[in-house]
Amino acid sequence: MSDSAHTSLDLPAEIARRRTFAIISHPDAGKTTLTEKFLLYGGAIQMAGQVRAKGEARRTRSDFMQMEKDRGISVSASAMSFDFDGHRFNLVDTPGHSDFSEDTYRTLTAVDAAIMVIDGAKGVESQTQKLFEVCRMRDLPILTFCNKMDRESRDTLEIIDEIQENLAIDVTPASWPIGVGREFVGCYDMLHDRLELMDRADRNKVAASISIKGLDDPKLDEHIPAHLLEQLREEVEMARELLPAFDREAFLEGTLTPIWFGSAINSFGVKELMDGMAQYGPEPQPQKAEPRSIHADEKKVMGFVFKVQANMDPKHRDRVAFVRLASGHFLRGMKLTHVRSKKQMAISNPVLFLASDRELAEEAWAGDIIGIPNHGQLRIGDTLTEGEEIRVTGIPSFAPELLQSVRAGDPMKSKHLEKALMQFAEEGAAKVFKPAIGSGFIVGVVGALQFEVLASRIELEYGLPVRFGQSQFTSARWISGPRADLEKCVNTNKQHISYDHDGDPVFLTRLQWDIDRIERDFPTLTLSATKEMM
Ligand code: GDP
Repeated sequence: MSDSAHTSLDLPAEIARRRTFAIISHPDAGKTTLTEKFLLYGGAIQMAGQVRAKGEARRTRSDFMQMEKDRGISVSASAMSFDFDGHRFNLVDTPGHSDFSEDTYRTLTAVDAAIMVIDGAKGVESQTQKLFEVCRMRDLPILTFCNKMDRESRDTLEIIDEIQENLAIDVTPASWPIGVGREFVGCYDMLHDRLELMDRADRNKVAASISIKGLDDPKLDEHIPAHLLEQLREEVEMARELLPAFDREAFLEGTLTPIWFGSAINSFGVKELMDGMAQYGPEPQPQKAEPRSIHADEKKVMGFVFKVQANMDPKHRDRVAFVRLASGHFLRGMKLTHVRSKKQMAISNPVLFLASDRELAEEAWAGDIIGIPNHGQLRIGDTLTEGEEIRVTGIPSFAPELLQSVRAGDPMKSKHLEKALMQFAEEGAAKVFKPAIGSGFIVGVVGALQFEVLASRIELEYGLPVRFGQSQFTSARWISGPRADLEKCVNTNKQHISYDHDGDPVFLTRLQWDIDRIERDFPTLTLSATKEMM
């Protein structure tokens, strides 16, 4: 056996080369453009423009996406795998719109790191802040990309200050921009003492990289106008004094973010960012689970569902469960135990999301994301193992912030509506509550746009026109506790009780006072705004 063959079979090496991450940004900061350049350098596409084109094709296939197109937001998340410099990158897409924050939160449970893209002229925006908070809850390491440096942008130190202040994270410059706007010529690579020059003539060309020996190297004068060079020397000296140096430990702990400056559309700074992810980014991390955590280098395969997408292909009514492998070496055809039902599943047609298209996954390793087509057995939060009774934790379901009643336009179709609603509930697209008294359903979401997406999907995928209406309730709390107390509470508060798609009781109300009352009357019960999905 040759050495290279040995290496490719060596479990830790295969796993060590994997980088599983998401890109987060405020809409319009350049996430799509950056993703596209990643795929370009990952050899997954040949030409810029294909991601968008591919997106369009997908949208025609799946009509509800028309809405996404109309509104210019990304409603659904997907995963893409490609190789870069000996590494396997698994890039998981997150919806940028805040109405889909729950989906984003769950997606971020499946990654080991995040790239935060900010617009150099706008700095930290509202959605950047929110998404950052989610990463912070998971202590995810964050690489920052300050985009659109080819345009008039803010002062470099000011941007760094703003990140440090608003997000309470230390920032270390991985590169330093030279000139702004029309005068922007490139960056000084602070980690490798290199000069990177941007080619404005060719947007897809990788920047020329010039090795120099520090900022006093006379070679610099050949490439940078004197006034910019003087400014660069001053700023870098100041930055080195004021800002922390790169420290991989602090970065991996999520307390320090390296920042690269660039222009995604001009392919500038992108490769350095990818190098940063490859060199410093985390290997597949241990996964929190009960009764013990799962380590990536364990021999046995374990994984968990973090997303379910239905009707990706209208020809098949199947759902695809997106599974993050937490450990082991997965081979197609393997039989895995579905821990919740204790049943075995033969995973015969798993899909690997190679950027070129969906492909059958012959094998996958810890860190990878595979799609498992199924008929509804697999739900968000489910764990798959080779028999061990272990359950991945930390994938929450949030209490909805908006509640509406829903009924079918045609009253004869309410059974159909129930089926559609249950499916969306399992997908995590909405909360569906069946009141203990009376008929109809109450649907809960985090953002108003979800109602619209839901209505349009129910109509397109099930041929059912539906009407949403006002609900008398505004808050939902899951109730749990000793059985006898729970039953007493349910029986004496029937008008407030509904059941979610798992059959778990939920207390619905309009008044905080009601919640306080239940907590006072039933001290053994817990009213919770989140529920672990399992
Ligand atoms: P997203 O909403 O975060 O996915 O952002 P997009 O990638 O769609 O980019 C938003 C807009 O910014 C588009 O019109 C892009 O062409 C533009 N854009 C992206 N990167 C750059 C850049 O480096 N410089 C400039 N000037 N425009 C950019």
